[in-house]
Amino acid sequence: MQAYLDNAATTQLDPEVISVITEFMTHYYGNPSSTHAIGREAKVELEKARKKVASIIGCKDKELLFTSGGTEANNAILKSLALEGKIERIISSPIEHHSILDTLAWIQKYCKTEILFLDVNELGDIDLIQLESLLKEEKKTLVSLMHANNEIGNLLPLKKVGFLCRAYNALFHSDMVQSFGHLPLSLSELPLDFATGSGHKIHGPKGVGFIYTNAKHAKLTTYVHGGAQERGVRGGTENIIGIIGLAKAFELAQHNLSDQTAKFIRLKNKFVSILHKKIPSATFNGRSNHLEESLPNIISICLPEQKNETLLFNLDMQGVYVSEGSACSSGSNEASHVIDALSKEKSEYNNLRISFSKFTTFEEIEFAIERISEAI
Ligand code: PLP
Repeated sequence: MQAYLDNAATTQLDPEVISVITEFMTHYYGNPSSTHAIGREAKVELEKARKKVASIIGCKDKELLFTSGGTEANNAILKSLALEGKIERIISSPIEHHSILDTLAWIQKYCKTEILFLDVNELGDIDLIQLESLLKEEKKTLVSLMHANNEIGNLLPLKKVGFLCRAYNALFHSDMVQSFGHLPLSLSELPLDFATGSGHKIHGPKGVGFIYTNAKHAKLTTYVHGGAQERGVRGGTENIIGIIGLAKAFELAQHNLSDQTAKFIRLKNKFVSILHKKIPSATFNGRSNHLEESLPNIISICLPEQKNETLLFNLDMQGVYVSEGSACSSGSNEASHVIDALSKEKSEYNNLRISFSKFTTFEEIEFAIERISEAI
């Protein structure tokens, strides 16, 4: 038996996505920028996909730009605004994804933009009182805070932060890579200027994502030069196969959202109750065991036994696929920057992120906890 419980890193392609992509690849090969009929056909499909995604996430199709994924999308927004001098500072948090943190480190090195990080407490809550007092300084500011944390599942109160930003004329970007397709969301109802998404966290293809941009006073200008694609902002022939797959994945996610959420909640409850019995010393990181305050598909645990440096390797050998932090930090021996920001003490122990998908079974959960308890 195997248990794939690393769905926050990536998910398996949905068979319906595979069949849509396969069908598309067989019939459409035109370049959407070609003016002849074969190109125009591809362009029509591209724009249909854009419309579909826009209507699912509740925005206008002209507010969506397709990218090569969430990483590119996050890089593009932060770097463009900083390089063009549209902002004086960026306020973010130490528990963002590396595609934000590493980009901020680059900006700090090469641009004049000031970078500030908000405090987080042991539960991973971001200090919004501190945010408001910083916003009172009335500098041209971009606030970049993720909606759902990819390691501990904590949810940011998006509306509260967005209205705070509006009140002080700050721009607001949220990395929503982990929340699209997992939560009911409509961007037109949210006080956001920028958001970023990806296809492969919800059974779509890897290497495709998007930027939502609605900022009237800070329009994104070209960041990939060499073509008029994506309204001239991102040149290069579109990854149309990926985009078609992403649109299908978003459609399926929206269609199955309530059943999927109910399943995730059952899986999470089951996980928590078996864990308590099998490993009573285990604790939870962030708010991942609070159903209302975290993503339903992510749970992060701390195993306060003596640290076992080979835990992940041993679990891998047993067929249990989980991660210690985000996929980007696995492969290195560094402790998770998120757990480290929450608690230095916890970061000394083994911490595991377990993340479900609609394909996860109760048997996988039982099998995984059994193996984890043997391994420690
Ligand atoms: N942001 C978050 C919160 C993520 O979890 C990820 C993926 O791990 C990314 C951004 C990067 O997305 P992509 O893999 O599409 O580049």
